[in-house]
Amino acid sequence: MIPYGRQSVDDDDIEAVVKVLRGDWLTQGPAVEAFEDLLAAKVEARYAVSFANGTAALHAAAWAAGLGPGARLATSPLTFVASANCGHYVGADVQFVDIDPLTYNVDVAAVPHDIDALVAVHYAGLPVQLDQLRNRPSVVIEDAAHAIGARTADGPVGNCAHSDMCCFSFHPVKTVTTAEGGAVTTNDERLAERLRQFRHHGIVPRPDIGAWAYEVPEPGMNYRLTDVHAALGASQLTKLDRFVARRNVLAARYRELLSDLPVRLAPEGRADVTHGRHLYPIHVANRAAVFERLRAAGIGVQVHYVPVTHHPAYGNPTWSAREFPITESIYQGLLSLPMFPDLSDQDQEHVVRVLGESL
Ligand SMILES: *Cc1c(COP(=O)(O)O)cnc(C)c1O
Repeated sequence: MIPYGRQSVDDDDIEAVVKVLRGDWLTQGPAVEAFEDLLAAKVEARYAVSFANGTAALHAAAWAAGLGPGARLATSPLTFVASANCGHYVGADVQFVDIDPLTYNVDVAAVPHDIDALVAVHYAGLPVQLDQLRNRPSVVIEDAAHAIGARTADGPVGNCAHSDMCCFSFHPVKTVTTAEGGAVTTNDERLAERLRQFRHHGIVPRPDIGAWAYEVPEPGMNYRLTDVHAALGASQLTKLDRFVARRNVLAARYRELLSDLPVRLAPEGRADVTHGRHLYPIHVANRAAVFERLRAAGIGVQVHYVPVTHHPAYGNPTWSAREFPITESIYQGLLSLPMFPDLSDQDQEHVVRVLGESL
């Protein structure tokens, strides 16, 4: 089976994890701190706060920004449902803004002026041009689950050049893995403090009362990453540039290999952008049949995504088609081909051959 995405774990990653297992700390300790320092340096942000997973990171970001009941949080319909669920967790009113057919990201010109927060999803790894937001909401949170290692003219995704916080996921299909894991980067010291507070039950130390004393002004969660996971993450981060470069080589090869097939490719983005290439989506006619044939041939294609606005929790397909026509048209025939650094040239050629036969 060739999956659509998978981790690249080498002996040095395994040794880094074993070293932690033999040590004194298993849950959050020095390896978490080292991982956070490395991540902050890599994406050129002042602070990085790690979490148990990317969904927890998004929840924490929404909480740290002070979003709650009455707040209007908008995101893209073409994303993983976690981008919207974070608004639901804090009691905000979750809304959607249709995407731009030239990027498959939220249309930066269409974000309404009365939104309090935008969760900007860098779909497939192509950064949202946040410098071009026509109406800038008071809170901008990036969902960069697809985009670690991506860059714009303003620097690496994660440096929060045009956002308050940037959220990452380190799930094994993402570019860098900790097994389960996530992080939020920010340049705002107060937000970093709130993120750490939320991760650890909402606890605020009270050294003015005593070394033992603490208080919980607002309940938080137990969303900590462990040292075991962080050790894997730190080892993986040293390979980020190589992972993203290989993903971009595979994308260029797909472009070439697919040029004679009746498929439509997803947007490449501007020339001054480095694409993170988490996914390689294309469009095919008769998707259901092509999907079945590829799966039957051991090729783990996937659809990213069923629009969030189709789900009963947020809407339904009829309403979604009326309100978000671009998302609906892009969803037609959308199919993700295998994309991960250890995908060999030969396996990639095999995928394209079977795809050609399936069309
Ligand atoms: C993977 C993903 C998440 C959630 O990350 P987890 O680590 O799996 O919780 C959130 N948003 C997007 C766009 C994702 O792809």
